[in-house]
Amino acid sequence: MNITDMGDRILAGDRRALARAITLVESGRADHREQATELLEYLRPCGRQGLRIGLSGTPGVGKSTFIESFGMMLTALGLRVAVLAVDPSSARSGGSILGDKTRMERLSRDPMAFIRPSPSQSHLGGVARRTREAVALCEASGFDIILIETVGVGQSETVVAEMSDLFILLMAPAGGDELQGVKRGIMEIADIILVNKADGDLKPVATRTQADYAGALRLLRKRPQDPEGFPKAMCVSALEEKGLQTAWDEMQTLSGWRREQGFFDQRRADQARYWFEEEVRQSLLAQLTAPGALRDKMQALGAEVAQGQATPSSAAQEMLKTLGLVDG
Ligand code: GDP
Repeated sequence: MNITDMGDRILAGDRRALARAITLVESGRADHREQATELLEYLRPCGRQGLRIGLSGTPGVGKSTFIESFGMMLTALGLRVAVLAVDPSSARSGGSILGDKTRMERLSRDPMAFIRPSPSQSHLGGVARRTREAVALCEASGFDIILIETVGVGQSETVVAEMSDLFILLMAPAGGDELQGVKRGIMEIADIILVNKADGDLKPVATRTQADYAGALRLLRKRPQDPEGFPKAMCVSALEEKGLQTAWDEMQTLSGWRREQGFFDQRRADQARYWFEEEVRQSLLAQLTAPGALRDKMQALGAEVAQGQATPSSAAQEMLKTLGLVDG
C-alpha cells in the first residue's frame, strides 16, 4: 500500500490501516522508518487531537481491570478509546505484556476501542518514539481518548508523562509506611492519584490511603498549570466499577481548565520540543556507539584518557572536532 493511500484510510478511520501503520512505526528497518516519517508528515496537517491520558501503577494494582472498566464507560459515552503501552521490561522479564488483549477482553471486543499491546522492544528510547508516533496515528484516526499504560518502575513513567496531557497514578490501598516509600518524583508528575480496590474489606484502608495521599499532595508546591484542588487523590474500584464517572469528571475539569488557560497547548508544545531534542541526543549517541570509525575514535580517545595521556576535556574536544562540531 502506498503511503498516501494508507494515510487516507487512517483518516477515514480504517482500523486495519491503523494497525499496519503502527507496525510500520515500530519497525527498525531503515526503509520503514522513511515511510513512517512520510506517513506522519502526511497526517500532521489533519490537526485532530485526542485527550492523551497516561496511566501508571505497579503490577497487580489493577491497571488492566481499570482500563477495561474505564474504557467501557468512555465508549458507552460515545467516545472512541485507544489503548497503547510503554513497557520497558516486556522483552527482558517476559512478564505480562501491557495492553494485552486477553487482560481486557470486553474492551478488546468493543468496536469503539482499539488496543495495541506494547512492542517487544527493550530499549526505552526506541519504545518512546514508537509510542509517541502510535499516539499521533490514533489521533489522526479519530480516537477521542488515548490511554497510555505503563508499569510504575524505572523511567517509563517519565517517558509516558512527557507524552500525556494528564497523568494518572493508580495505587493500591496500603499502610502509612508504604506511602513513605512512594517516590517524590512520581507524586510530582501525577495529576490525579486513584486508590484502586476501594471495595469490600479493603474499603476502609483505601479511604485512609486516599486521605494520606491527599495530605502528601497538599504539601507539594502548587503548580501553575493546576486549578484549585489539584493534584488530587480519589478512591475507585475498577472491579466494581465505582468512582469511575467521578474520576472522569475530574479529568475533564482539569483538562478543560488547562485548555482555557492555555496550559494544554503549552504543554504539548513543550513536549514536542522535548522529544525533538531527545531525538537529536539519541541519534548522536547512536552514531557514537554504532560500529564504525566514530566508535573506534571514541574508544581510542577513551584509552588515552584512561592512560593519562590526555585529559577528559581535551579528548572530548578532540572528539567534537572529529564530528565537525567545533573548529579544529
Ligand atoms: P495490573 O497488573 O496492574 O494490570 O493489575 P490487574 O488489572 O491484572 O489486577 C490484578 C488483580 O487485582 C486481579 O486479580 C484483579 O481482579 C484485582 N483487582 C483489580 N482491580 C480491583 C478492584 O477494584 N478491586 C479488587 N478487589 N480487586 C481488583
